[in-house]
Amino acid sequence: MTHINTANPQSGFADLGIAGALLKALVKAGFSDPKPIQTQAIPHMLEGRDVLGIAQTGSGKTAAFALPVLSAIMALGARRQPKTAHALVLAPTRELAVQIEEAFRLFSRGAHITTALVLGGVSRNSQTKRLRDGVDVLVATPGRLTDLVRAGDVRLSETRWLVLDEADRMLDMGFINDVRRLARATHPKRQVALFSATMPAEIEKLAMELLKDPVSVSVAPQSTTVAEIGQHLVLARTKQKRVVLAGLLADPAMKTVIVFSRTKHGADKVTRQLEQDGISAAVIHGNKSQNARQKALNGFRAGDVRVLVATDIAARGIDVPGITHVVNYDLPDEAETYVHRIGRTGRNGADGTAITLCAPDERAKLRAVERITRTRLEVMADHTGEPDPAPQPRSARGVDEAERNRPRAKPAKPAHGHDGKKKPRPAGAQDAGAAAKPRPQRRRRRPQRARFAKAA
Ligand code: AMP
Repeated sequence: MTHINTANPQSGFADLGIAGALLKALVKAGFSDPKPIQTQAIPHMLEGRDVLGIAQTGSGKTAAFALPVLSAIMALGARRQPKTAHALVLAPTRELAVQIEEAFRLFSRGAHITTALVLGGVSRNSQTKRLRDGVDVLVATPGRLTDLVRAGDVRLSETRWLVLDEADRMLDMGFINDVRRLARATHPKRQVALFSATMPAEIEKLAMELLKDPVSVSVAPQSTTVAEIGQHLVLARTKQKRVVLAGLLADPAMKTVIVFSRTKHGADKVTRQLEQDGISAAVIHGNKSQNARQKALNGFRAGDVRVLVATDIAARGIDVPGITHVVNYDLPDEAETYVHRIGRTGRNGADGTAITLCAPDERAKLRAVERITRTRLEVMADHTGEPDPAPQPRSARGVDEAERNRPRAKPAKPAHGHDGKKKPRPAGAQDAGAAAKPRPQRRRRRPQRARFAKAA
C-alpha cells in the first residue's frame, strides 16, 4: 500500500508558500507540481500584490488565483457578515463559473470555507438563500450578480479579494460596464487579480483603473499549444460541408470532437445532421437552458457523445480534457476567436488537430485568421471543384447508408503530416489530391507570441 505523506509532501506548492489544509487538498487532488502560471502568480498574490495575468483556460490559472485567495481567507479568521462575500470571482459564462466554484471547493476540502455560485438561467431563490448568512467565496457571472446587488440580496462592500477571469470574454459579451460597477462596489482596500487570454485596449484600460502597481504574469499556452496542434484547411462550398464533416468523422481517430458553429441556428442544424448521419452529437449554445447545457457537457465529458457542437460563447472556458479534434464548421467573424477555438484541443502536451472548413465566401475571414496566427493553414483537400452532394435524407439513418449516397466522400484515413504527426484526411482527400491546390508552405511561426510579449 502506498502512503502519501500529506504532512510533508514533496510539493512544489509548499515552496510557493501554500500550507496546511490547502496543501493536503492539493496532494489529494493529484496536484504535485505547480504549473508555470501558478509558480509566477501565487507568491505575489500571497504577498498581497495585485496581479495581471495573461493566460488561457487550460493553463492552470484557476489554482493560480484560488489558492492565494483561499489562503488569505483562511488566515483572516474574520466572521462572515450577512449578505457579503470575502472574495468575488467574476467569470463570463455559467460553465466557467461552475468550474471555478468546483475548483474552490476542491482546494478547500477539509477547511471551513463556504462558496456560492450566482449565475443566470437558474432560480434566484436558492442563490439569495445561500448568500443570506454571507459566504467566503462568491463566483458569479456579471449579469445575475448585478441583479442581486440591485435587489439588495448581496453587498460587495466587504469583499477584499476580487478576481476577474477571462476579462476579454466579459468584454466581448458586453459585460464590461457591469464588471466595472461591480468591481468599484467592492472594498476600497481590495486585492485584485485580472486574468485574460488577450489584452485588447479596453481591458488594458480596465486593468489600469482597477489594479494598483500590478505584477504582470503571463504564460503563452496559445503559442506552445498551437505548436502542438496540427492546423488544416478543407476548402468546400457551404452545401458540401455536411458531407465533408461526415467523411472526416468516419475516421475513428476523431474520438472526441468539438465542432464550432458561428451561430446558434447553425449549431442546431449541424447537430441534427450529424445525428441523421448516425454520429452521436450534443449541442451547446446560449438559447439552451442551463440544465440542457450541463447535460450536453456531461455526456461529452463522459464519452457518451462523440461530438459536441458549440457556439463560441457557450464554449468559453469549457475544459474537457482529451479533445482530439476541433472542427471549425465555419470561420469565426473575429480572427481571435479562431485561436480560442483551436485551444480546446492539444492540451497538456497531447497532440491535437484543428480542421477548418472554408467556403469560397469565407476567404477574407481565413486571411484574417492566417494574419493573426501568422500561420498559413495547410490545405488537406479542396472540394470546391466537385459537384454538390445529393440532397441529404430527412430521416435519421446510419452512417453507412449516408456513406453510400455520398459523392466521392471516402472515409478519412490517418496520414502523416509534414511534421511527422498523424493527421486525418478529409472526405475525398485522395480523390481531391489532383484538385487540391496546396498553397506554398511558409515556415510555421509561433502565433500570438508578440501579442503576449507586448501585453506582459
Ligand atoms: P485551468 O486553466 O485552471 O482551467 O486548469 C486546467 C486543468 O489543469 C484543470 O483540469 C486543472 O484541474 C488542471 N491543473 C491545474 N493545475 C494543475 C497542477 N498543478 N497539477 C495538475 N493539474 C493541474
